Amino acid sequence: MLRLTEIKLPLDHDESEIQAAILKKLQITAADLISYSIFKRSYDARKRGEIFLVYILDIETTQEKRLLQRFKKDPHVIPTPDTTYRFVAQAPRDLATRPIVIGTGPCGLFAGLLLAQMGFRPIILERGKSVRDRSVDTFGFWIKKRLNPESNAQFGEGGAGTFSDGKLYSQVSDPHHYGRKVLTELVNAGADPEILYINKPHIGTYRLVKIVQTMRAKIESLGGEIRFQSRVEDLHIEQGQVRGVTLASGEYIASNHVVLAVGHSARDTFGMLLERGVYMEAKPFSIGFRIEHPQSVIDRCRFGSLAGHPVLGAADYKLVHHCQNGRSVYSFCMCPGGTVVAAASEPGRLVTNGMSQYARDESNANSAIVVGITPDDYPGSPLAGMDLQRRLEEQAFKLGGGTYYAPGQLVGDFLNHRPSTTLGTVQPSYKPGVQLGDLSTSLPDYAIAAIREAIPAFDQKIPGFAMNDAILTGVETRTSSPIRIKRQEDCQSINTAGLYPAGEGAGYAGGILSAGIDGIRVAEAVALSMLRANEGI
Ligand code: FAD
Repeated sequence: MLRLTEIKLPLDHDESEIQAAILKKLQITAADLISYSIFKRSYDARKRGEIFLVYILDIETTQEKRLLQRFKKDPHVIPTPDTTYRFVAQAPRDLATRPIVIGTGPCGLFAGLLLAQMGFRPIILERGKSVRDRSVDTFGFWIKKRLNPESNAQFGEGGAGTFSDGKLYSQVSDPHHYGRKVLTELVNAGADPEILYINKPHIGTYRLVKIVQTMRAKIESLGGEIRFQSRVEDLHIEQGQVRGVTLASGEYIASNHVVLAVGHSARDTFGMLLERGVYMEAKPFSIGFRIEHPQSVIDRCRFGSLAGHPVLGAADYKLVHHCQNGRSVYSFCMCPGGTVVAAASEPGRLVTNGMSQYARDESNANSAIVVGITPDDYPGSPLAGMDLQRRLEEQAFKLGGGTYYAPGQLVGDFLNHRPSTTLGTVQPSYKPGVQLGDLSTSLPDYAIAAIREAIPAFDQKIPGFAMNDAILTGVETRTSSPIRIKRQEDCQSINTAGLYPAGEGAGYAGGILSAGIDGIRVAEAVALSMLRANEGI
């Protein structure tokens, strides 16, 4: 097959124009073209009002050899890379030992799926509830202000990204095309096949719920076992080798292979691991607020008169500003046409995040606006960053009035150093509600100063970004894990054999796709190690 890149067509082109573009580019006749498929479709919106769709196409042709020779100097005509996923191992039928996977977020789910597909019959332990019961608790919290610390936006089947925008892109290097395997499995589980080819695909929260259930059924049908409300409370290590785990119920499960995919909010688990001597260190993360604007402001700026075009959907943005005080402020986890969500998992602490439905048709755009911080800002124990997160979340809870209302402030008031008392034209979407006031004490002074400098700078790029009525809610603290549980080349902890720190919580992923990719990587490492152990190598 041949791959053609940079095929540009007008936004409103019809399908026949794709074939015409292929024939023109390759200078072949329709008889020479056997078939084509779209590998990727993105848009080029650098000129507002003149937006192009840009395709990467895979072509089957009778003329492949001749064309490769003819276009050998053209970087836009190449042989199609082989992205087929191939399993690295197959468990022998009589294998008695089973690996444990802790967590059913995207990392644990994909590690579990791959291990099941290779015949290793994983035991998957999840502290939260099945996604259906978890949805009742999470939406219940948003409406009734009653937080279940074991079943919420962070904990439960599907992990942290279940109630999210379901953005599925990542900038991690992926030489083995694991990302393609993740997307393919999501499509097999019911995601729209368009996620395989559109640039920056997203799934939307309700669809994710169904996909997670289908993936669970597949793992179980392959001999895997998923146990909910099974919080791992202890890890047994003998002479530097993992031997098993103890659950909150007191049950002990033995295994020499434990994948630790607990996400960035498993603070009690991090504490236990530190006590058990598992090597970890503090790592940088970011803190800030959610900002909400009318989606129409963002669409107009990005798409001009083409705003609202169905192929383009709701516009997103990505912004960064380097401040005079040396800090960088950037937008993070932008959710077009979405809502701000209460993402707390600990009583008396408050944290925001964002989600949207597949249609992205809510009236507000939201995004985190965050400041990068490093262990120099929280020296001391490896868990000092986590302690800082907790302090900021407690302060936000107090500023919100102690009822899980989020503290909020209008952008105009925030920039002009005055508390907010009444809402303007933008209605905040955070549930259960927003307590207006002054956010200047909710973050360290350097972070407040940096965000005050960045918002007007962002307005230069998106006119209206600093509009008076745009609304900030806080705080955003769980942008990534505050720790890294270091591992070596073979994915095992650097001082605890058989422990495979994985995904976002261990500091090896940031987002759904990269967590899924890391799950595959770690499953392969576990499978190879188990085969070696079985063969006595
Ligand atoms: P997690 O998804 O956090 O999963 C960890 C799992 O481990 C949890 O289910 C937890 O209950 C379980 N667990 C923890 N401790 C234990 C224990 N001791 N015993 C047993 N089980 C345990 N990313 C994107 O790419 N796109 C988005 O649109 C997006 N939106 C988001 C919206 C929200 C509201 C949130 C909260 C996050 C969002 N993210 C998004 C981030 C994304 O969800 C995470 O990066 C991703 O889920 C990390 O995957 P993970 O498997 O490493 O960890």
